[in-house]
Formats: sequence, structure tokens, C-alpha cells
Amino acid sequence: MKDIKDLKVLIDTDTLHKRIKILADEINAFYGVENPLTLICILRGAVMFYTELAKHLKMPVKMEFVTLSSYGNSDKSSGKVKAVNLALPDLENQNALIVEDIIDTGLTLDFLLKFIKTNCKVYDVKLAVLFDKKCARKFDIEPDFYAFEMDDKFIVGFGLDYNGFYRNLNYVGYFE
Ligand code: 5GP
Repeated sequence: MKDIKDLKVLIDTDTLHKRIKILADEINAFYGVENPLTLICILRGAVMFYTELAKHLKMPVKMEFVTLSSYGNSDKSSGKVKAVNLALPDLENQNALIVEDIIDTGLTLDFLLKFIKTNCKVYDVKLAVLFDKKCARKFDIEPDFYAFEMDDKFIVGFGLDYNGFYRNLNYVGYFE
């Protein structure tokens, strides 16, 4: 178990909140405030980003949740996505926006995007991520909206965990 004393702050709360507000404004401008949007949260990592983003969206929003896991209890991806809960309603004629904490290899979002396009009759589905680790990408997939680019370090806080812990931190840090 790593000690929180060794956690270095990378992005503080104020910076996170200000950047997410700007991203929400971009999303408002892109979809228009009249057009309903289904916001799909990937639990558990996206939970903090999802709620912070949703507060600033101005269109009518429906909230949906799925639970996926690709890391298990380690800081390396297992290479497989475990679908713990994929219970989504029919999204016929709807715009959907998947909200994820971080895109790393792209495996998780590639999996969910294909699942939604195949099974949910969605009109359009796009991706919003808090962090884009562009340098780690293995799948041909890019987020439509992202808040921060991140180099290839393992970060925790603001939804992101280490062994299930630290998701509740109101900032993002890394262990030296
Ligand atoms: P991908 O499927 O794109 O390889 O990885 C996406 C998932 O891996 C994220 O949802 C997140 O759970 C986990 N992940 C990737 N990078 C990090 C990281 O730096 N820190 C933490 N805590 N999780 C990460």
C-alpha cells in the first residue's frame, strides 16, 4: 500500500474545476442548449469528472451509468475489458456522450463505443475524457473532447484509483 505522504500534487482542484467548466462550455456550444443529451458515465473512475461536468451542461441531460474494468487491482491494464454492468436503455434517436476519466491504450472506450453502436440504436455517440494519454494509445480511437493531455505516468485522485483507494481526492497526483 502506497502512502499518501508520497503523493505529489500534479493538478489542483481549482485548475481541474476551471478546465472542466471550459470543456462543458465547448460541449454546450457543440450540441446546442436545446438538444437533449444522454451522458454515459463509466464507473468507477469517471464519477468525479462526470458530476463536475454535468453541473455545467445547459441542455436537457439524461444520466446513465455503466461499470467496466480493465486494470483490476494493478497499475497495468489487464488487456481485457470486464463488463460488470452494461445495462443501457435504448438510445434510439438520441445523442450520447460517453464520459471517461482517462484514455490510455483506448481498449475500454473502443469496447464501449462498439457495444453502444451495435446494441443501443444510438443516433450519435461521442467521447469526453478528463485525461488523454496520447502516447500510450494502441487502438485507433480519439476522444472528441478532452480536458488535459497526460504523459505516460500513473496518476490517482479525482476518481482515479490505486488499488481502489484515492478516488475521493479533490486533486490529481502521482507517486514518486
Ligand atoms: P485503456 O482501456 O484506455 O487502456 O485504459 C482506461 C482505463 O485504465 C481507465 O478507465 C482507468 O481506469 C485506467 N487507467 C489508465 N491510466 C490510468 C492512470 O494513470 N491511473 C489510474 N488510476 N487509472 C488509469
